[in-house]
Amino acid sequence: MNVEYDYLIVGSGLFGAIFAYEAKKNGKKCLVIEKRNHLGGNVFCKKIEDINVHAYGAHIFHTNDKKIWNYINQFAEFNGYINSPLANYNGELFNLPFNMNTFYQFWKTTTPQEAQDKIASQVMGLNIGEPQNLEEQALALVGPDIYKKLIKHYTEKQWGRKATSLPAFLIRRLPLRFTFNNNYFNDRYQGIPVGGYNKIINGLLEGIETRINIDYIADRDELQSIAKKIVYTGKIDEFFNYQFGELEYRSLRFDEEVLKIKNFQGNAVVNYCDPFTPFTRIIEHKHFEFGNQPTTVISREYPMAYKKGSEAFYPINDLANNTKLEKYNQLKLNFPNFIFGGRLAEYRYYDMHQIVGAALQLVKRELI
Ligand code: FAD
Ligand code: UDP
Repeated sequence: MNVEYDYLIVGSGLFGAIFAYEAKKNGKKCLVIEKRNHLGGNVFCKKIEDINVHAYGAHIFHTNDKKIWNYINQFAEFNGYINSPLANYNGELFNLPFNMNTFYQFWKTTTPQEAQDKIASQVMGLNIGEPQNLEEQALALVGPDIYKKLIKHYTEKQWGRKATSLPAFLIRRLPLRFTFNNNYFNDRYQGIPVGGYNKIINGLLEGIETRINIDYIADRDELQSIAKKIVYTGKIDEFFNYQFGELEYRSLRFDEEVLKIKNFQGNAVVNYCDPFTPFTRIIEHKHFEFGNQPTTVISREYPMAYKKGSEAFYPINDLANNTKLEKYNQLKLNFPNFIFGGRLAEYRYYDMHQIVGAALQLVKRELI
């Protein structure tokens, strides 16, 4: 087989698409292959009832890094959307992330000092030193009242295991602040691309050869011979035939429903934090873009066990998996013509801005 391409890029998510765009700009010939029946990875949107439906769960772009923000703005304008989810616990509504509005809803505290004192009085006596797991971390940050209603059950549904057996860093993703501010992120730049995420992917991949419905793993011998180098953004354990065993993931199922009403829940994201509701979130997609359509589309998000063949959405970066990952990372060194990147190949809980940052770092090393 002829070596036809400089780069074969496995996976058309943000990581693969950014690398392909930059490689093409630098005169390299690329082929992007994708095993799904569409391009874009997890940021892909479907158009339903004239609404951009986030097919793989709500995606809100946020970053503190001006370079990353300027980079992504080349491909779409952003609409100023600020994510302010609500939490529903048995019909009671609370603001997220944990802030002065939440504390008022729990305890009627009206000043930061009162809220801090309340949390301190709740945490005192729990005897938590350096938090060893998510439960201890959450209790140390907000105390048992908030932990029991807004964190414990949501977390255990989401991850399918006890909060005591999950890493503490997961809960540190959420801001805790003593201001009346419901912005879910602390970053300076945030929004949803006008025209949807597909606009960004289409812009990145314009003029680049792409093929969908192609699984690299199923045809690797032939495919690896057509390019000088391969950028692989699929699962790292799968690449190495699971020789050290499977890395664990958490999966999700999205149940979409079209409703013949204008407005279902008045907010893009409502989390369901009680133990009885089987889903964790309802997303009402039109609110990401301040939509005014006559109908609405909602998705209920059901956490699911991951098994081979289902979608590997969340890496579970606990000690056992990270130890296994280290072994796979060592094997990568034997593959100098391969570049491994993105959320699945690195097995990291990366947000989009981190993927953009990592892809641009790679571009610097590899192309410039
Ligand atoms: P992916 O988007 O997963 O792309 C990898 C691609 O490779 C996929 O299309 C896959 O089909 C393809 N592939 C894999 N194996 C093969 C193979 N063998 N052959 C061919 N193709 C293959 N980030 C945020 O910043 N904000 C958010 O609000 C946010 N919300 C999220 C919500 C959910 C439910 C999830 C799961 C993630 C969320 N993220 C969010 C994270 C975001 O999705 C990722 O950071 C980003 O999309 C990862 O890009 P990627 O290119 O690394 O991976
Ligand atoms: N979390 C929670 N209650 C909520 C929202 C989040 O306990 O209402 C916890 C949960 O453990 C979750 C983690 O915080 O896995 C990170 O939440 P985030 O919203 O960042 O998760 P993602 O959007 O990536 O699913």
